[in-house]
Amino acid sequence: MNRKTMLGQAKARIVHWDIIVIGGGATGVGVAVDAAARGYATLLLERYDFGKGTSSRSTKLVHGGVRYLEQGNISLVMEALRERGLLRQNAPHLVSDLPFIVPSYSWWEGPFYGIGLKLYQMLSGKYGFGPSEYLSKEETALRLPNVKTGGLMGGVVYFDGQFDDTRLLIHLAATAAGHGATLINYARVTELQKGADGMVNGVAWEDRETGEQCIAHARVVINATGPFTDSVRKLAEPGAEAMISPSQGAHLVLDRSFLPGDTAIMVPHTSDGRVMFAIPWHGHTLIGTTDTAMDHVPIEPAALDQEVDFMLSTGSLYLAKTPTRADILSVFAGIRPLAKSGDGKNTAALSRDHVIHIDRSGLLSIAGGKWTTYRNMAQDCVDQAATLGDLPEVACVTKTLHVHGYHTNAAEFGPLSFYGTDALAIQALIAGSPGLGEQLDPALPYVAAEVVWAAREEMARCVEDVLARRTRALFLNAKAAVCMAPRVAELLARELGQDGAWQTQQVAAFTALARGFQVSAVPV
Ligand SMILES: Cc1cc2nc3c(=O)[nH]c(=O)nc-3n(C[C@H](O)[C@H](O)[C@H](O)COP(=O)(O)OP(=O)(O)OC[C@H]3O[C@@H](n4cnc5c(N)ncnc54)[C@H](O)[C@@H]3O)c2cc1C
Repeated sequence: MNRKTMLGQAKARIVHWDIIVIGGGATGVGVAVDAAARGYATLLLERYDFGKGTSSRSTKLVHGGVRYLEQGNISLVMEALRERGLLRQNAPHLVSDLPFIVPSYSWWEGPFYGIGLKLYQMLSGKYGFGPSEYLSKEETALRLPNVKTGGLMGGVVYFDGQFDDTRLLIHLAATAAGHGATLINYARVTELQKGADGMVNGVAWEDRETGEQCIAHARVVINATGPFTDSVRKLAEPGAEAMISPSQGAHLVLDRSFLPGDTAIMVPHTSDGRVMFAIPWHGHTLIGTTDTAMDHVPIEPAALDQEVDFMLSTGSLYLAKTPTRADILSVFAGIRPLAKSGDGKNTAALSRDHVIHIDRSGLLSIAGGKWTTYRNMAQDCVDQAATLGDLPEVACVTKTLHVHGYHTNAAEFGPLSFYGTDALAIQALIAGSPGLGEQLDPALPYVAAEVVWAAREEMARCVEDVLARRTRALFLNAKAAVCMAPRVAELLARELGQDGAWQTQQVAAFTALARGFQVSAVPV
């Protein structure tokens, strides 16, 4: 993927597109994959970088959602379990099975959660990831070496899936591009165009790198802007009623010593009635999440002090080596674009189902859902878009469509496994220029060749794109990411034809951003 080429394609198009997608998160890029694979001429515009919004800030689970089972939303659980299976089938280089243990500290928890998790496993049918089982106290402690053993009675193990959200997103963007879609990052939709009949038939957008203003027309315009859905709807209908209840969720990242081994912990009922996870992720420990109703939607949400403290105190109930603020390597928050219901105050109770809404102006908005269900959401959306735009009927093909990088044994690429088949090209870069094999910081496995690859093939435009979303440095260890920034800026400048002043500005901007991913030793 090359931004200049994508811009050229967008500007060269004189006839209208079949579909314009606004928003380059899981929902929008998923729609672009589906639409392009059906043969529809598709343009996707993303205001920042792909995944800058919620889609880089998930808990990294490809899951049916045990919690939704508890809420009685069987249809969502079944949909998500099926999609989990399809995703592992179509992107085996990116989705892996992960055992989860629910540790039990009272006599009733084992049988209670055991029955629920058996049901969870049964609902997955042919897409099952493995049987759930009861574990003795000794087996639980063996699989979770840092679990608190005082009062531990045993546990229940079950299986779900894990992934790297932005790596999947970039590979989905490449899949869409491979099927002819044009996708542009740093392209902000500023206005919706309407025909004489008052119906939306295009967008005005700005190339945020040059300030150039452009117009594009389409049979259907799809608003896939996640938490920003309502602000884009207001471009078409200023009085449009909100369809989104934004809810913030935060995560902490600690080093691996808090969760050694390859098994996650699932806490089915925190003191605020939520589910919380401690998960091994990229050699670290990820803890999350929270559910805080928001009355505004920042693009760079910040974890609240009380969220951080709540996660630490919940973690301390289960971990023998208890985490403190000083142990936090990174903290990040994201905003769930939940479909609105009632006053939207108790966001934890709101459905994670997706909704598709067509405004009187013909703007189609899709929101809600989960990363796990992006494919099914896209299928539903493109089916409706085809009817709305009177496009030739073409069946969806994504159930069996391999995601870019598809590889059934990517583990052979070691730290580059998440690239799937692209790992071969990155290895070739290193072979051609051994300096590119240099690790960018001793704390993280990333090498210089990944920066070059991100600039040449994945439309990375700045230091943040590389350190936050092409690699996960910022999300894993914010201080190490800051240390990597000057070298990344230098490598990027060479690739993008930028000068020393640009490098200085990039390092300063990234350092300022990374402050939001660090916490002070005491609450402020
Ligand atoms: C804390 C948390 C944990 C989660 N964990 C999981 C999980 O483990 N598993 C799971 O399946 N799901 C999970 N989810 C849900 C999942 O992450 C979201 O459902 C999904 O990422 C939403 O994607 P989206 O594309 O709708 O929104 P976004 O990713 O926010 O994308 C919307 C995009 O629209 C762009 N945009 C906005 N305005 C404009 C404009 N005018 N022009 C162009 N572009 C614009 C934004 O810049 C943004 O990039 C989690 C969510 C949260 C918040």
